[in-house]
Amino acid sequence: MNFHILTLFPEMVMQGLHTSILGRAVEKQCISIEAVNIRDYTTNKHGKVDDYIYGGGAGMLMQAQPVYDAYQAVAKKLNGPARVIYVTPQGRVFHQEMAKELSKEENLIFLCGHYEGIDERVLEEIVTDYVSIGDYVLTGGELPAMVMIDAIARLIPGVLHNDESLSAESFHNDLLEYPQYSRPEIWRDKKVPEILLSGDHAKVDAWRLTQSIERTKKLRPDLYEKWAMRQKN
Ligand code: SAM
Repeated sequence: MNFHILTLFPEMVMQGLHTSILGRAVEKQCISIEAVNIRDYTTNKHGKVDDYIYGGGAGMLMQAQPVYDAYQAVAKKLNGPARVIYVTPQGRVFHQEMAKELSKEENLIFLCGHYEGIDERVLEEIVTDYVSIGDYVLTGGELPAMVMIDAIARLIPGVLHNDESLSAESFHNDLLEYPQYSRPEIWRDKKVPEILLSGDHAKVDAWRLTQSIERTKKLRPDLYEKWAMRQKN
């Protein structure tokens, strides 16, 4: 999977995404991540990429031309069409199923807005998906793009050391993950549940499933309802 990020702040996304697990995945060539500086494509001689908004109103808007040319520079290099995700508070809210679906693509282009956003005309021209990370407004699209790329990348085979761990994680099967413990066996008088020390894998699995169900019911009743409905069908 190749991630291409159109942004005014390439250092921000490159630094964040080349750390820890994703950094190693890039080194192993499981994924590639490139950030394209939209400012490099402006035809304005002062390097300007934003301007006032027609009709008035506060703030500045990213102009169509540099965004379009930055997109073209990326699209030209690819073998075929790629999905272009505009990260925006106005989009569908990102979730694990969306991450799974997107992890099957060969190339993904993320478009990060800044200031008041981006001229509508270029969005109409190039964007295939409008995606939000939640109902709040951030100053720019870099953090949302990083959040989505992290969630998508860890689903790509080879990125995590142990791909099996994905099948027990929260949101898999509409359940949250069960509680987990590491050494020592007793910490501040709290003991690790006996069953986890028993070595009986079937019993451990059954305990974990019960814990997952209980935890989901308590913390995310909406998710629990979804899971319970699926059990009935
Ligand atoms: N004026 C825009 C509106 O009201 O919809 C908000 C612009 S916001 C200040 C600047 C940029 O941050 C957006 O273009 C978008 O790329 C990004 N952004 C802000 N909040 C976001 C969110 N919740 N999810 C995804 N992207 C977001």
